[in-house]
Amino acid sequence: MGEKQEEFKSEELRKGAKTLPRRDLELTRVKEELERKVKELEAAKEREMVLRIREIAKAADIKRKVEQLEKKAKELKDARKALLNILEDIDEARKKAEEERNKTLAIIANLTDGLLVFDSDNRVSLVNSQAEEILGIRVEEIEGESLANLSRFPSLKPIVQVVKKKKKVFREEVKLHENLILEITTSPITRERERIGSLLVLHDVTHEKRIERMKTEFVSVAAHQLRTPLSAIKWSLGMILAEDMGPLTEEQKRFLQKTYQSNERMINLVNDLLDVARIEEGRYIYKPAFRDLTKICQAVINSHKAAIKRKKIRFEFKKPKEKLPQVKLDEEKISLVIQNLLENAVRYTPPGGRIVVSLKRKEKEIEFSVRDTGIGIPKEQQDRLFTKFFRGANAVRMETEGTGLGLFISKNIIEAHRGKIWAESEENRGSVFHFSLPLT
Ligand code: ADP
Repeated sequence: MGEKQEEFKSEELRKGAKTLPRRDLELTRVKEELERKVKELEAAKEREMVLRIREIAKAADIKRKVEQLEKKAKELKDARKALLNILEDIDEARKKAEEERNKTLAIIANLTDGLLVFDSDNRVSLVNSQAEEILGIRVEEIEGESLANLSRFPSLKPIVQVVKKKKKVFREEVKLHENLILEITTSPITRERERIGSLLVLHDVTHEKRIERMKTEFVSVAAHQLRTPLSAIKWSLGMILAEDMGPLTEEQKRFLQKTYQSNERMINLVNDLLDVARIEEGRYIYKPAFRDLTKICQAVINSHKAAIKRKKIRFEFKKPKEKLPQVKLDEEKISLVIQNLLENAVRYTPPGGRIVVSLKRKEKEIEFSVRDTGIGIPKEQQDRLFTKFFRGANAVRMETEGTGLGLFISKNIIEAHRGKIWAESEENRGSVFHFSLPLT
C-alpha cells in the first residue's frame, strides 16, 4: 500500500507539473478578478463615502440653515415684541393726546370769552359757544368760511374791518351796538416759528365800560358842581386880599394868601378832572390853526419866570436861529402841555438846579424838550408815566402838590395832534420830557 501511495503521489506530481502553467493562469485571472472586485468595492466605498460626506455636509448645511432660521425667527419674535411695545406706546400717546385735546376743547368751550380760531388760509376752523352767543351766529354758518366772507354777517362786519386794518397782534375795542362793547384781541398761532393760524378773542367789556362811563360822569358832575363855589371863594378872597373890604394886617394877609393858593390848587385839580372826563367821553374839543410854537413856548416860559427865579434855578431856552415853520395845533391845549412839562421840571428840581427848554426842527416834525436836574423817576415806575393818577414814589415823599393827571392829559393832547410824547429819566439825576408835532 505504501508503495502504491508513493506511486500515486509521484503520478500526481507529474500530472501537476503538467497542469501548473494552467493553474497559474487561473490564479492570475482570479487575482485579477479579485483586484477588480477590490477596486470596484473601493470605488463603491468611495462613492458611498462621498455620498455620506455629501449627506453629512447636507445635514450640516441644514443644521446651519435651521439655526439661521431659528435666529431669524427669534429676531422676528423680538421685532414683533418691540413693535407691540411701540404700538402700545403709540396707543398710550394717542390716548394722552386725545385726553389733552378733550381738555383743551373743554377749556375752550367753557371759556368766558368768545373764541374764533382761523387756519393758515384764514378760514374759520373753530368757534366756541360763547362766540356763537356773543355774535348771534351758529358755528355751522361760519365754519370753513374765509375771513373776508365773514363781513356778510352784520355782527361780524365791524370786527372783520378792524382785523383787516390791523393785521398783526392787537387789542382793540369794538362797539357792536349800545349794549355790546367787545375788546377784541388777535394773535398768531405758531408752531416751530411757522404760522399755522390765528386766534380772535372776543372779550365782553360792556359792563366795565358802563361802570367806567358812570365814574367819568360822576367825576364830571362833581367837578362841575365844585367849580362854581371855588370860583366864588377865589373871587371873594381876591377882593379881601385887594383890601376892597378894608385894610388887613400882615398876618391876616399871609393867612389869606395861603388860603387863596390852596383854593387855586383846588381849582386846578377840578379843571384837570374836567379835562380827564372830557377826554374819556370824547368831548375834548380841539380848535387847530397854524401857529408859531416858539412864541407859544416863550409865553409859557414868561409866566413861569417868577417861580424859576424863586427856586434859584438856572434856566435856558434853546431855539434854532432860523425861524421855525408854523405848526397846525390847538394853541390853548399845546400851551397846557408845555405848562405841565415846565411846571413839573420846576416842581421836581431842587433849588439851585438847572432847566433847559429846547425846540428843534426835525425832517418832518418839530421837537420840544425840557431837561432838568431834578429828582428823576424811579426806573421801575417809568412805564406808568403818562397814566392817570400816577405819582412817583419819590415825588410823593417830597410832599409836593400834584394830582398825577398832568402827564395823562398832555399825552392825550399830543396824540390828538398825531404827535408823540416820551421821557428819559434817571432817579436823582434828572429827566428829559419830549414831544414832537408833525409839520403837515
Ligand atoms: P403831578 O405832577 O401833578 O403829580 P403829572 O401827571 O404831571 O402829575 O406827573 C406825574 C408824576 O410823574 C409826578 O407825580 C412825578 O412823580 C413824575 N414826574 C413828572 N415830571 C417829572 C420831572 N420833571 N421830574 C421828576 N418826576 C416827574
